[in-house]
Amino acid sequence: MEACQRLEIVLERIHKACERAGRKPEEVKLLGASKTVPPEKIREFYGCGLKVYGENRVQEFLKKFEALQDLNIEWHFIGYLQTNKVKYLMNKVVLIHSLDRKSLADEIQKRAQKAGITQNVLIEVNVGGEETKAGVEPQNLKELFEYTLSLQNLRVLGLMCIPPYLEDPEEVRPYFRRLRELKEELEREFNVKLPHLSMGMSHDFEVAIEEGATIVRVGTALFGERKY
Ligand SMILES: *Cc1c(COP(=O)(O)O)cnc(C)c1O
Repeated sequence: MEACQRLEIVLERIHKACERAGRKPEEVKLLGASKTVPPEKIREFYGCGLKVYGENRVQEFLKKFEALQDLNIEWHFIGYLQTNKVKYLMNKVVLIHSLDRKSLADEIQKRAQKAGITQNVLIEVNVGGEETKAGVEPQNLKELFEYTLSLQNLRVLGLMCIPPYLEDPEEVRPYFRRLRELKEELEREFNVKLPHLSMGMSHDFEVAIEEGATIVRVGTALFGERKY
């Protein structure tokens, strides 16, 4: 199937989910999760109108950033971030989705200050409490969020999660709901507005939208199965 057709199908699914949830489609940003996708293919999807992409690995991101510099892509970083790689992302990504520890917050603060920018981030929460997954544990979220409030060059815009993989998307719903509730708790407790919830992937983004997602990260449904 052609790129533009695949994009249309995903956008249509987003529209339908918004309709069911009584939300406006403009409230939901589609991010192409483009790990392993070659630059030429990203260029093709860009031509179809998809302008937002998220990468998981810094090296791979930098190569694509270079190769696609002539396009006006909005790049996000969505993977686990090593502290020593933070410096390569400054002035290149609009949002880092994976802040999960103080040491990483400190490094982002330091590098953003040096670059003279404010770096927008999301805190990644391990909503499933899975040992193998990244993300701050829900019980440590408040402490990490409060800590970031003291960092001048870092701004938290919301939360992100990668819930456990479950065949039936309905079974994932409680995790998405939990992330929304955690965001609302932070908003109440710290009297702040957190505009973003980054949640939902190819097989469960409709449910995530029904639960309040503002960014859905979609790979396979757009680009096809990844070959490793
Ligand atoms: C790969 C990836 C996605 C997209 O996954 P699909 O199931 O292919 O849609 C979303 N978020 C993150 C963090 C990813 O690494």
